[in-house]
Formats: sequence, structure tokens, C-alpha cells
Amino acid sequence: MAKLYKINRDNLRDHNLSVVIQTLLNSTDPMSRADLAKSTGLTKAAMSMLVEILIKNKVIQQLSPIPDSTFGRPSVPLAFYPHHWVGIGLQVNTDGYGFTVLDLAGETIYSQWVDDTMLNVVPEDIFTQLDHMLQPVENELIALGYTICGASIAVPGLVENKTTLVNARNLKWKNINLQDFNVIRRLHAVAANEADLAAIAQLPGYASADQSIRPIPNSFIYLSTDIGISGAVVSNGTVVHGEHNFAGEIGHLSVDWNGPQCSCGRCGCLEQYAGRRALVEAAHIADGDAAVTRQSVKRLLEAWKQHDTDAEKAISRGMKAMASGLCSAINLLDISNVILGGFWVNFTDAVAKQLEKDIQGIALGRDASLKVNVDLAPFADHPALRGAALVGLRRLVDHPMHFLSDSTSSFIR
Ligand SMILES: [Zn+2]
Repeated sequence: MAKLYKINRDNLRDHNLSVVIQTLLNSTDPMSRADLAKSTGLTKAAMSMLVEILIKNKVIQQLSPIPDSTFGRPSVPLAFYPHHWVGIGLQVNTDGYGFTVLDLAGETIYSQWVDDTMLNVVPEDIFTQLDHMLQPVENELIALGYTICGASIAVPGLVENKTTLVNARNLKWKNINLQDFNVIRRLHAVAANEADLAAIAQLPGYASADQSIRPIPNSFIYLSTDIGISGAVVSNGTVVHGEHNFAGEIGHLSVDWNGPQCSCGRCGCLEQYAGRRALVEAAHIADGDAAVTRQSVKRLLEAWKQHDTDAEKAISRGMKAMASGLCSAINLLDISNVILGGFWVNFTDAVAKQLEKDIQGIALGRDASLKVNVDLAPFADHPALRGAALVGLRRLVDHPMHFLSDSTSSFIR
């Protein structure tokens, strides 16, 4: 006889609560219990019980009733309860390091970022700094009655098993077990590639109710541009991680196999033309370590705005490389929406639209219905930090029953 599965009441409640939270996250307007019942297919009685659990645990709150002219009975809109459930995002990047604390209602509670050129930095020093920055904030959060539901750390390289930074070439860091650091262990922070997290930050309603983010396509290629260029492939609202969690490394698509050698060992990688160090060097603004300073980047952007010939040539070459690399990615994936994040956001919408036109002219699907879209990231300010905090909050969204109970004490599981 085949194994008989029984319905587990706790699992069912966990699933239903998750559906209710996600339905509220996906809605641009506050919803009532009746709206939620209609949208989820659950009965009104079941919905009332689920909503009571969420209200009791300060996940949602009732807003002022709105008179209903049709039936005469006021409708009570529900909204996420602010200043209670939070996720913590940490990031170590090639332009600095920091953290952010985001609540379920979409408000940034604390945020701190240290600009740094990150030349010859030692992991122990950076993580000790992060620990010193975060410890007092964690203490304050607990004292104020917040509950931390999870944390994640964004790093600029390949990540294995959510714990090991395999290689961050532009930091010259290799094989680092992030669990060796106090702050990561204390927060149970899971590690992820910064581009994957930056892509998550663009997804409306992923784990917080920030309605300021404008709608974006369900499937897109996200490009995280800095010294290196990383990327993420999002298909139907989900980041595609690949077989080893290494998918999306668009910066290492070779656009010229006779081109300059990349830190990965290959020649002519996209980031050798369109990364910020490559652009600064090609524009003859600075070389080597001096090319990654904030002043050099500022000078490049100023030179480009003033139509300096070298800056324009460098950026034009970078755009050709971007069009070539992105076209290869679009031909391979059949995903025609591109979101540009990171350093390239400085080049404005006009550059994004020129890139769109260039790729449209060479993409294989141009003779059919393929229509390329290139847009600047809706959320461009340290998006990986926000994505990391969202991953922390998502633990509550995915498994509410791991967190919700009659107890009011703060805990992390
Ligand atoms: Zn490379």
C-alpha cells in the first residue's frame, strides 16, 4: 500500500499564513479580510482566524474603517505593522561596506555605509568593523521591542553553500568561510552574491511593503556594474541560481578573445571594457590603484558630461561591449528585459535607451517578436544591502509559524 500522507494542521496554517502575507505584499492597496478571502480562495471564517494571528503577533494592523456604500458595512483595511519585524542586510563590496535594517512595512530603521576603496583589505578587519557597527544597533533593536527574523550578507563573488566566499577577485579574497566571523554567526546571516541580492531588491513585494518601487517585468537580466560586472537572471520573479549557485556572471562573457586579460584568466571579458576601473583607465584619467578611487570616478563622470573626447570614447567602447555581452545573454536566455544597476546608473536613461536600440539591432529574435528593454534599476541606492535585508525578512514570509506564537519575546531561529 502506498504511503498515506495526512494533513498536518501546523503545516497547513503555516502555508495559509504565508499565502495571506504574500497576497498583502503583492497588493498595491490595503486589503480587507473579505478582499483577502476572495483573493486567496480561503473561507471568510478561516481568513478571520488567520488575520487575528497576524494582528496578535504584530505582523499586520487594522487601519481606520472605510464606509462601504454598496452594502452599508464598513470595510477594515489591513496594513503591515511597522517597527516590529525586521531583516538585517550586510554587504562587503569593492566600494565599501555597511549594513541596513529594514522592517516589514518597508521602512529603513537603521543604515550605515562606509565608503572605502577596499585596496588590500583583510577580511578579519572588515568583519570586525561590521561587528562593531552592528552590535549596538542589535542591542537597541531588542531594547525597543523589534524582532530580527533573519539576516543575509552580500559579497562580490561566487558563494557556495550560503557560507563560503569562493572567490572575490576584485577584493583578492579567496575561499573564505564567512561563518568564521562573529557578526555572521551571531546573526545566522546567509551569504549570497551581491548581484542576486540587488536583483531581489528590485522585486516589488518580495518581503516588505514598499509601494514606492515601480512595477518591473517578471523576468529580467540584472546587471550589477562596479569595478567588476556581475549579474543575475530573474525568471518569473525568481532568481535563477544555476547548478552550483554561480549563474549570472555576465561580466565574464568574453566580447573579444584577443582583448585584455581579465582577473578570471580569460581575455576580453565584458568587465575589462565596461567596469568602472576599465572605463577610468580607458579615458586616461588614472591607472592601477588610483583608477578605483572615488575622485577618479567623479572625474570620469564630469569629463563625460563635458563631452571630453577620451571619456566619450571610453564610454562608447564600454557601450559596444555591453551591447555585445548583453546580446549574447539575451540570445542564450530568451529574456529581453535588462535592468542596469550599480555604477552605470550614473550614465542616465539616455544611455540605457541607446543600449536598448543597439541590442535590438543585433539580437537574433529581432525578426520575430523579441523587443529588448533596457532600464535603469528602480532601486539603485545600495540595492544589494536592501536585498540582503529582504532575504532576512523573507524567512517570516515563507514560514510564519517559525516566528509567530503566543509568546511576545524576541528570538531568531
Ligand atoms: Zn573575466
